[in-house]
Amino acid sequence: MAYTIKGNESSLHAAIEKQSHEWLDFLVRLVQTPSILGDEKACQDIVRKAMTSLGVFERMVYPSNDPPFHRTGRSYADRGCVVGRIPGTGCAPAFVLNAHIDTAPVEDASSWTHPPFSGVIDNGRLYGRGALDDKAGVAMLLLLSQVLKREGIRLPGDIILESVIEDEDSGNGTLACTKAGYFAGAGIVIDGAWPFRIIEGHLGQLWITVKVRGTPAPACSMMRAKDPVAGALRAVNSLRELVAAKNKVAAGLEFQSPYFCCLGSIHAGTWAGAVPESCTLQVQIGFPPPDTPEGMLAQIRETVLAALPDFEGNVSLEVGSLCAPPFSNKDNATVRILRQVIERLRPEGMEVKPVIVTGHCDLRHLLQADGRPADACLYGPGGGGNPHCNNEYYMVEHFVPVAQNIMSTILTYFNML
Ligand SMILES: [Zn+2]
Repeated sequence: MAYTIKGNESSLHAAIEKQSHEWLDFLVRLVQTPSILGDEKACQDIVRKAMTSLGVFERMVYPSNDPPFHRTGRSYADRGCVVGRIPGTGCAPAFVLNAHIDTAPVEDASSWTHPPFSGVIDNGRLYGRGALDDKAGVAMLLLLSQVLKREGIRLPGDIILESVIEDEDSGNGTLACTKAGYFAGAGIVIDGAWPFRIIEGHLGQLWITVKVRGTPAPACSMMRAKDPVAGALRAVNSLRELVAAKNKVAAGLEFQSPYFCCLGSIHAGTWAGAVPESCTLQVQIGFPPPDTPEGMLAQIRETVLAALPDFEGNVSLEVGSLCAPPFSNKDNATVRILRQVIERLRPEGMEVKPVIVTGHCDLRHLLQADGRPADACLYGPGGGGNPHCNNEYYMVEHFVPVAQNIMSTILTYFNML
């Protein structure tokens, strides 16, 4: 069967370049509209409107707190994924383009050079919370769909567009899309990768909340108290020792230190006048295979309880809203095609090296109709700096070449080049 394609690769690339300005403006608007994890609606409304005016919006998809979703305790009544479709001729499975709208929180806005929701472009860098991670991905997905629509490209398979929530923790957004029947033969999660980098897997991750109850006392009688802050810090140190010991024996892995333990938040007390009643801390623990979330949790629990015999019965440990197993899908069709495309189109660049990363992502939820992982990877939206931290920025010059690489990958995947 012959498929028509109006124009060739170079005219599609020219269209991407021409239409990119509109979507960089759109990206600024997204950055100026906060969508911190748990409160994504305002941005998703903007994305939905954009998909609707492109003629690609299909429906909203909502996760829940019931299995198979990871329980977060957050309401999903008003928090959905925006899903679009560019229909193909039905001769091939769909190709999914996925990016996430939820962002990390802002700890201290006054520490930013440009305010976190300003969307200021300074010296080629677009600053703001979510600019890099991952609103540039969402804007790129819309740019690609506009070009495919306007150029009248009819592909053998559908292009499914997913602007999802909760990539930053549960992964429930992308899982909801798959559960709603959006299967993929192949796909690209536009998130977390520089122009010459392809991500084909990630570590396992757990968020753990540890709460230690002590015995309070006024500051002047603190010798009578049992200090929960000291206990909580001892718990963290024991976890760091666990991680260090496991890193020593982790052999044959692609990382120097695949196990990590990040203390992300610690809360105790209300003022300086008393030893607090309790201390609560949140840690993120990363781990490679063969460890599993369940196995790691058991080791973490054992380690913490062993470190705090004097707080027996007063230590609780709960899994938070991130609980992801290690995942990789190496050297699949999309990885191979993308690699060839990048090397062909950007010969001035260094060698393209697919990698496994120490973070996590939604890749594990992109599935084929028979339940096998889709031929998928992470690629784009390009480079930048400081994701999850102050002064997050996206390198604007990467927007066009990365989008062009993705376009050529889609066309090659569907044998249209
Ligand atoms: Zn991300």
